[in-house]
Amino acid sequence: MLDVKAVSLSFRGVRALAAVDLQVAKGELLGVIGPNGSGKSTLFNVISGIYRPDSGSLVFDGKSLIGVAPAQIVRDGLVRTFQNKRLFVNLTVHENVMVAALKAEPGSALGDVLGLRRSREALESAESRARECLRIVGLTALADVLTKDLPYGAQNRLEIARALVLDPSLLLLDEPAAGLNPSERTEVVQLIRKIHERGITIALVEHDMRIVTGLCSRIAVLDHGEKIADGPAKEVIDDPKVLEAYFGAELSAAEEANP
Ligand code: ADP
Ligand code: MG
Repeated sequence: MLDVKAVSLSFRGVRALAAVDLQVAKGELLGVIGPNGSGKSTLFNVISGIYRPDSGSLVFDGKSLIGVAPAQIVRDGLVRTFQNKRLFVNLTVHENVMVAALKAEPGSALGDVLGLRRSREALESAESRARECLRIVGLTALADVLTKDLPYGAQNRLEIARALVLDPSLLLLDEPAAGLNPSERTEVVQLIRKIHERGITIALVEHDMRIVTGLCSRIAVLDHGEKIADGPAKEVIDDPKVLEAYFGAELSAAEEANP
């Protein structure tokens, strides 16, 4: 479904991605892990068309993504969430999903030109899809709450609802459980499983190793912009290279804090 080959990207001489290969097969729930700054979000930014790679190729459903506008990539069914959520805090939960839904509504701009009837149809369709997505993420009861008044965990689920309303075939989730407490984390894990069971292919960037191993049968590992491992979760988490990259960094940070 997605075939990333030898993708490299530097920011002012600092290499964020170094010849990264990544394949995602239809129906998969792939985990992408790696220490902070290893290039996970940058990889998602390249896949979703926000950054153009210096070199390499990206093919989604048989079509090259290089030079394709992010909005077109979304229309083609490749949708991502952002690590720093992009919510309108002064709109309600429902309105936040509506904004995303209306952007995706085919013909809504044309409807504005042609008159009210078509616009109303677009609006009704967006309304019902927004309601359905809020139901999936479990936010129906909070639909009319202002987004800034939501608990943090509910904001993460709202960010996922905004992606779902765009009708993805491949969903990229960038640290959807970051900053959550254990019970919120459990909710997000169950939600990801539920979305996957609905037939949506998922690539999940997540720092929490337990979440990734609990959800994903395959894991790819980035370190300093390079992919250092990719395979069955059980093998990858026992790989000495991965333990060194992943826990080595955390251990040295812990040692610095508690010498
Ligand atoms: P991760 O998501 O794995 O924590 P990132 O992909 O955010 O890591 O970052 C990888 C590296 O690229 C980091 O060194 C980061 O500082 C750098 N980087 C990411 N985006 C930019 C940018 N827009 N400009 C400059 N450097 C960036
Ligand atoms: Mg990141």
